[in-house]
Amino acid sequence: MANYEAVIGMEVHAQLLTKSKVFCGCDAAVFGAAPNTHVCPVCLGLPGVLPVTNRKAVELTIMVGLALNCEIAEAAVFARKNYFYPDLPKAYQISMYDFPLCLAGWLEIDDPEGPEGAKRRIRIRRVHLEEETAKSFHVGDHSLVDFNRAGLPLMEIVTEPDIHTPEEARQYLVRLRATLRSLGVSSADMEKGAMRCEPNISLRPVGNDRLGTKVEVKNLNSFRAVKHALDYEIERQARMLDRGEQVRQVTMGWDERHNRTVEQRVKEESDDYRYFPEPDLPPLRISRAWVDEIRAALPELPEAKEKRFRDEYNLTAAEATILATDRDVAVYFERAVAAGRE
Ligand code: ADP
Ligand code: ZN
Ligand code: MG
Repeated sequence: MANYEAVIGMEVHAQLLTKSKVFCGCDAAVFGAAPNTHVCPVCLGLPGVLPVTNRKAVELTIMVGLALNCEIAEAAVFARKNYFYPDLPKAYQISMYDFPLCLAGWLEIDDPEGPEGAKRRIRIRRVHLEEETAKSFHVGDHSLVDFNRAGLPLMEIVTEPDIHTPEEARQYLVRLRATLRSLGVSSADMEKGAMRCEPNISLRPVGNDRLGTKVEVKNLNSFRAVKHALDYEIERQARMLDRGEQVRQVTMGWDERHNRTVEQRVKEESDDYRYFPEPDLPPLRISRAWVDEIRAALPELPEAKEKRFRDEYNLTAAEATILATDRDVAVYFERAVAAGRE
């Protein structure tokens, strides 16, 4: 491994906390509900229906874009991502492609190489809004589909390939989750599937700038799984490269029981999805006045809180990180200080 540098880009999906689904009026509080009770012709994908965009879902996505230092697009365009899957009754997902809502931001993590308190930026490539798919259950020789989840607002946050170790990946995810929670836009509860991570990983010889062939690991739902999957993939790819073999560009799943990645399919190119602009929805025009309004109403974010805690209470960087990252801990800490504790 000493001969290689790992290069990791992270794709995170997070469900947004709206009252209704993203393109219909169905109640979005579906967790634990009896199967197929929160559905209508729109989220069932019946012919002849029309989607209507949920303004709140757009607003929550813009909040995240601002918190991640992104540019907010003046116009964003929904696109159809075509693929056939039993949990996608229309045979396409409404997503965004060429014109996402938010572009070119960053999130800071601690720089493990730098002095105490040093930060490193993980660049955010894009943040966009799309619809959640339904959920399949496999029972014996047949499958069942629950459409309650279909059409929940789902946000996708994609980084540049700026992450280099499993520890940096963990830190990025912890900080991203803290940001989503402090904004109140998502429960970001990984156990309930409200936040899911897909690391993309490749290796390259140390000192080489060219990116190697990447492997994508789908839908990891715990920090532990992300760490184990990355450790496993780094070792697997290093062995292959050592033997002079080529890494194949594939999509992998994570087999929790055997602690290994398993090949799911050869990676599709974006051409395979035949993206095109969604004809049933107008482009979103995002006025600067609206963006300013959303910006003005943002709560204090973990990064700012951390900095304030250091200045105001004279904490070390490590203490400030611990006390500022979790919103409940931060509130408790400040109340304790206000109550006259040292
Ligand atoms: P795809 O179309 O396969 O999803 P993208 O180019 O959209 O690929 O990138 C998806 C994610 O993979 C991004 O987070 C990006 O930073 C990361 N990525 C792209 N190329 C590489 C690479 N060679 N190694 C590691 N990560 C990469
Ligand atoms: Zn519906
Ligand atoms: Mg991808």
